Amino acid sequence: MAALPLQEVTVTQLKGVGQALADRLARLGIHHLQDLLLHLPLRYEDRTRISPLGSLRVGSTAVIEGEVVNSHLGQGRRRSLLVRLRDATGSVGLRFFHFSASMKQQLQPGLRLRCYGEARPGASGLEFYHPEFQVLRDDLPPPPLEQQLTPVYPVTEGLQQKRLRQLVAQALDFLEQRPLDELLPASLLDQTHLQGLRSWSVNQALRYLHYPDCQADLEALAAGQHPAQKRLALEELLAQQLGMLLLRQKTREESAPPLTKSAGLLEQQLREGLPFALTGAQERVLAEINRDLTDPHPMLRLVQGDVGSGKTLVAALAALKALANGYQAALMAPTELLAEQHYHNLTAWLQPLGIQVDWLAGKMKGKQRQTALEQLALGETQLLVGTHALFQEEVVFSRLALVIIDEQHRFGVHQRLALRNKGGSEGLLPHQLVMTATPIPRTLAMSAYADLDVSVIDELPPGRKPVTTLALPDSRRPEVIARLRHACQEGRQAYWVCPLIEESEVLECQAAEVTCQELQEALPELKVALVHGRMKPADKGRIMQAFKEGEYQLLVATTVIEVGVDVPNASLMIIDNAERLGLAQLHQLRGRVGRGSTASFCTLIYHPPLSSQGRERLQAMRESSDGFYIAQKDLEIRGPGELLGTRQTGEIELRLANLKRDAHLLEGLRPLGERLLEEQPLLARQLLARWRGDSLRFSQV
Ligand code: ADP
Ligand code: MG
Repeated sequence: MAALPLQEVTVTQLKGVGQALADRLARLGIHHLQDLLLHLPLRYEDRTRISPLGSLRVGSTAVIEGEVVNSHLGQGRRRSLLVRLRDATGSVGLRFFHFSASMKQQLQPGLRLRCYGEARPGASGLEFYHPEFQVLRDDLPPPPLEQQLTPVYPVTEGLQQKRLRQLVAQALDFLEQRPLDELLPASLLDQTHLQGLRSWSVNQALRYLHYPDCQADLEALAAGQHPAQKRLALEELLAQQLGMLLLRQKTREESAPPLTKSAGLLEQQLREGLPFALTGAQERVLAEINRDLTDPHPMLRLVQGDVGSGKTLVAALAALKALANGYQAALMAPTELLAEQHYHNLTAWLQPLGIQVDWLAGKMKGKQRQTALEQLALGETQLLVGTHALFQEEVVFSRLALVIIDEQHRFGVHQRLALRNKGGSEGLLPHQLVMTATPIPRTLAMSAYADLDVSVIDELPPGRKPVTTLALPDSRRPEVIARLRHACQEGRQAYWVCPLIEESEVLECQAAEVTCQELQEALPELKVALVHGRMKPADKGRIMQAFKEGEYQLLVATTVIEVGVDVPNASLMIIDNAERLGLAQLHQLRGRVGRGSTASFCTLIYHPPLSSQGRERLQAMRESSDGFYIAQKDLEIRGPGELLGTRQTGEIELRLANLKRDAHLLEGLRPLGERLLEEQPLLARQLLARWRGDSLRFSQV
C-alpha cells in the first residue's frame, strides 16, 4: 500500500480502525483517506487562549480559568449544581444538571479549574452549562493550551469528535508523504476574480482548514469566505459541473423515439383557431424544440420565458408533434390549480382537433382514477395533464414520447428522472421539455442547468400594456379600495393577495379570510371570492374558473395564485404586505395582470418603516416589469442562491461548496468543464472521483 494515492487507501489502514469503525465512517461517506481529508470541519473552537472572566459576553465560547468560590444546589424547576468561579477580573457560574455525589464533593471552594464552554444568560448572571472542565493542580505546571484552532466535524452515532480528530490527524500525516494531485487547471485561476486563490494549493487548503492557525479569520471561515475554502469550493463546483455534463452526455447516448413527422395539418388547424399569431420568440423556441424532437436521443431542454410570454402554447405545439407521430405526451404542473388550468387550456385547443386529453391528480380515487389509468395504458389518452401524481408507479403509458414539466423550479432533478422509466416497452426514453418563468441570469443558468439545453422566449405577445406599479403605505388603503371599486364598476377584475405574515399556512389563510370579509364589507356591491392553500383543490379550481368566467370581480387570495394562473380580464393586482415578499415572487404575482389589452395596475401596499432591502425591492418593481431586469436586481440585493429555487438544495449534493454563497465562482465553469471532458478526460475523471467518490449518483442515470 506504500505507493497507493490517498484516494485508494482505505480508512482501515489507519491505526485503530476496524470494520465497525469503518462502517460508521462509511455512513459519513468516508471510505478512503481522501474522503476523510475532504470531511471538513463545520466550525472551529478556539482553545488557544484563556479568556478573562470579566471579558465574557453572552454567547462567548471560551477557555476560562478560575478558583471555585462556592458551590451549592440550585433551586428552580430542575435540580442543578451551581458552582461559582472567580478570577482577578470577575466571576461566572458553572451549572450542572447531571452530577454525581463525588463531583459535588470534589468541587469545593479553593479548587482551581480550567473549563471550556459557552457563556449563557443564567439565573445567576453569565453561566456555563455543563462545561468541559479539568482540575488544575498546584504541584504541576498547567496543561498546555492548543496551538491551533480545534476543528468540530460532522459526526455520526458511535463516532466521537475526539476520535474523528485523531483519524483526520493521521490522514494529514499521510498527506505530508503523499500530497494530492493538483487538478485545477491553471488557466482557471488566472481569471481576475479568482486570483486571490492562486496562492493556495489543494494540499495547503486542506491542511489549513483542518487546523487553522490561531490568528485565522474566524468570521471568514464561519461565513465560508476564506480563500482556502473558496479554493476547494471552486474545485468541487467544477467537479459538479463535470458530473452534470456527463449526465447530459449519458442521456444523449440513450435512445428516444425520433419524432420525424411534422405535426402538419393538426398544427395548421390549431394555429388557425387562435385569435393571434405566435411571437417570433415562440416560433424560434418551437423550432429549437422540434429540431431536438426529430433526434433519436432524448431532448433535455429548458424553456425560460417571463410570465405571460406564452410558454403553454409552445408546449401544446410540442405535444402535438409527439401525438402526430403516434405517441403520447404528458404535461406536469407543480400544483393542482395550475394543472387544472393547463387541462382547461389544452382541452380547448386540442379537443377540437380530435385529440384525447385527460387529467390525473393525486386526489382522484376509485372508478374515475381506474378509468383514467386504463385509457392511458391502452393509448387512448394521448395527452395526460396532472401533478406529481404522474410520477406514481401505477401510471403506465403505452407510448410516451414527450414529458413537459411546467414551472421547473418546483421539481427536482430526481423527480424528472423518475419519469424516464415511463417511456414504454421499446426501451426508449421520453424527450423532456422543462418550462420555467424564473428568469435566471445567463451565466448562472448555464451552470445551474448544465445538464439541460436552454431556450429563451425573450419577447412578450404584442399589445401587452406595461403594468403600472405603485407602492403605497398602509395608511392609504382607503384610496386603494376606492380605486378598486371604480375599476370593478367599469367591468374589470382584480386580485387582492395576502402573503404570509406569520410562518404558518393556517395563519396566512386566516388573514386572507379576514381581509376577504373586510373587503366584502367595504365593497358590498362587488362579488368577492376567496382562494387559499388549505382549500380542496376542486373548490379552488371551481372558484378560479368562476373568476375566469367573470362571476366574481374581486378574488382575495394567498400566494397560491403566484404561479401561472391566467385570467386575461383581470387587470388589477393588489399585494398586501408587499415588503415581505421577495422580488421573484412579486414579479410572478404582478405577472397575473397585464395579460389582456386594457392598461393594468399593480399596487404594492407596505407597512412602514421599510428596511433598506424592502425599499430596494419595491423600487425595482416600480422601475421595470422585465423579468430579467428584476432577476438581475434580485441577484444584487439578495445574492444568487434564491433565484435557483429548490435546485440549490438536496438534489445537488455538495460537500463544501454552496451554490448560493459561491455563485460568483461559477462563472466560466461550464465551458471549462466542456473543454476538460473533451481534451483532458482523465483529469475530468480524477476531479469527479475526488469529489463525487463512489457516491457518483448520476452514474446510474
Ligand atoms: P406563461 O408563459 O406565463 O405560462 P401563458 O402560456 O399562460 O404564459 O400565456 C399567457 C397568455 O398569453 C395566455 O392567455 C395565452 O393564450 C396568451 N398568448 C400566448 N401566446 C400569445 C401570442 N403569441 N399572442 C397573444 N397572446 C398569446
Ligand atoms: Mg405558465
